[in-house]
Amino acid sequence: MSVRRLVVANWKMNKTAAETAEYLDIFLAQLPSLPSDVEIVLAPPFTSIARAASKIKGFGVRLGAQTMHWELRGAYTGEISAPMLLEFGVSHVILGHSERRAYCDETDRTVNLKVHTALQQGIVPIVAVGETLAQRRAGITDDHVVAQTKAAFDGVSAGALPGVVIAYEPIWAIGTGENCDPVEANRVMATIRSSLQGLDETPILYGGSMNTDNVGAYAAQPDINGGLIGGASLDPNGFAQLIRSAAVSP
Ligand code: PEP
Repeated sequence: MSVRRLVVANWKMNKTAAETAEYLDIFLAQLPSLPSDVEIVLAPPFTSIARAASKIKGFGVRLGAQTMHWELRGAYTGEISAPMLLEFGVSHVILGHSERRAYCDETDRTVNLKVHTALQQGIVPIVAVGETLAQRRAGITDDHVVAQTKAAFDGVSAGALPGVVIAYEPIWAIGTGENCDPVEANRVMATIRSSLQGLDETPILYGGSMNTDNVGAYAAQPDINGGLIGGASLDPNGFAQLIRSAAVSP
């Protein structure tokens, strides 16, 4: 079965709206040379979403957010809701990124609430799961990522799962330059895929120090359907090259 492939750029807290426009001028010019069967999602900071939305209009690039609240409106100072994102054409939202779990009190419960809201509102949730180095050393990687996956999609029907995206991101590999061995990443991702009924057609992405040099080895693995890319997505030429390199796989 062929699962659709995605490359998602997570810019984190980088790029002003003006910098976003400059980036997109360079990146969008390269689209004709990029593989057409790889869906590209850019997740800029909230303050750059409006500028990005007007720049990418008509280019076939998708827009993502880096988080959102589970409620649609209300007294949640500083938060952003699904309708606010939809107004700008946001189609994807990253949920449960390890940085938000570590620094912003994101929990399995809030990820689950947000997944339900995203699906109800027609936004594709990209749910990040992954183990710490201590959990890997303790031999509980599989148990941990399976528990995170089950918690994130608790109450979601198997029929809805082809419409979600999962990102396996070993925390020790994020932003460290120490990427997970592609065969091992594929093994964990196959375990995630078999943890719930309905995940056969769900794109599962690898994230963690993915770059132009190593993306081909990940793309060649059967259970890896693309990447969630932080640092290597910040340069428009480098990110375009990474997407080209991701296309060499079957
Ligand atoms: C991420 O933050 O999702 C990520 C994978 O970052 P990096 O590519 O920089 O490791």
